[in-house]
Amino acid sequence: MWLGLDDTDSLAGGCTTQVFDQLLRAIPCEFGEPRLVRLWPFAARRTRGNAALAVELFCDDSIIPWLDNYWTDHIMPLVGEISESHHSDREQFPADPGMVLFENQPDEKLYWDTVRGKVELTNIGHQWGGHGRIGAIAACAWPAQIVTWEGIAWRVGIRKVCPQALESVDRLEGTFLCRDPRTSRGLIAPRGPCPIMFGVRATSREVAMKATIILVDGVGTAEVSDHRIFATNQASGDHIVQSFTTVINTKKILKGGHIILNEKLLSFSESGEMNLLCQWLNIGDKIQYLGLEFNGQIHLEGVKLISSIEKERPLCECGTRMKSMGEDQGIRCPKCKLTSTDNWVETIRKPPAEGWVQPPVDKRRHLAKQF
Ligand SMILES: [Zn+2]
Repeated sequence: MWLGLDDTDSLAGGCTTQVFDQLLRAIPCEFGEPRLVRLWPFAARRTRGNAALAVELFCDDSIIPWLDNYWTDHIMPLVGEISESHHSDREQFPADPGMVLFENQPDEKLYWDTVRGKVELTNIGHQWGGHGRIGAIAACAWPAQIVTWEGIAWRVGIRKVCPQALESVDRLEGTFLCRDPRTSRGLIAPRGPCPIMFGVRATSREVAMKATIILVDGVGTAEVSDHRIFATNQASGDHIVQSFTTVINTKKILKGGHIILNEKLLSFSESGEMNLLCQWLNIGDKIQYLGLEFNGQIHLEGVKLISSIEKERPLCECGTRMKSMGEDQGIRCPKCKLTSTDNWVETIRKPPAEGWVQPPVDKRRHLAKQF
């Protein structure tokens, strides 16, 4: 059987990961690897990074009465709680939890549709609750082709992670996005009333577990109530189908430093090196890009320069740049007056950053691939 849960976040301190952890601690059957699945970042009702939870249960449908009771006693009371958002300008939605149960894992198409766009609720499986059922179904349907891991611990009181423990976890091979490489600021602890103490990401389950234990045991870490390792689709790039190649025709710099290329490709000013690269581009340059379409624009998540060639008049023997004397009139050195037939030299421009360039780590989407 497959169980999914979503949309139980609340400003009062609820958090879907913790609600799910508590359910797993109580459930009277064996279960597989819990999964934390990020979904389409533009979903209108998204709560904190739009993550849903799922797990395979090793039982039959005789678990349903137990789930009925658990739903009524522990999850129903969360309905209508206002969810926390890091963006105060975004419309707030009350929590509308949803839980689903399937005998067999649902078709992976349900995952791909939900991670890449807006979907309506499908009436399949056994369902409890409201809007959260959409994410809960998608989390069950995740085929886990590209998997990373996250160790999450929940706090009892204050949120405090031992800085030395964080440093050693950051050095551990196989962890990622622990600290901002530019500022050394920790990236594992959320802010606000959320009950999560930290979430540490890794490329293997073993490393996620090791890092979690180091952090929990850190002398400077405050008390945690529990911790658990989740298989996730974070850093999978699953939300973007493919990259595209284009030639720059137009470049507009908007108020605030955001840049629009070709009237469609949007780079935000907070995008650091990626925004600098977009600013540096000239008309005629060729780029490859990754982005997510929203409201007719593509929000860039990665840009790679393919070619940028500058055409200039050649230098004269005396070292001065030659100039055109008019159409079909050839070129002439403004200093020593040497003339030559009309010609150009092409130089390859060197970009401010080579290869794929992404927004800084703290501005990247949970789903964004690591280059
Ligand atoms: Zn000259």
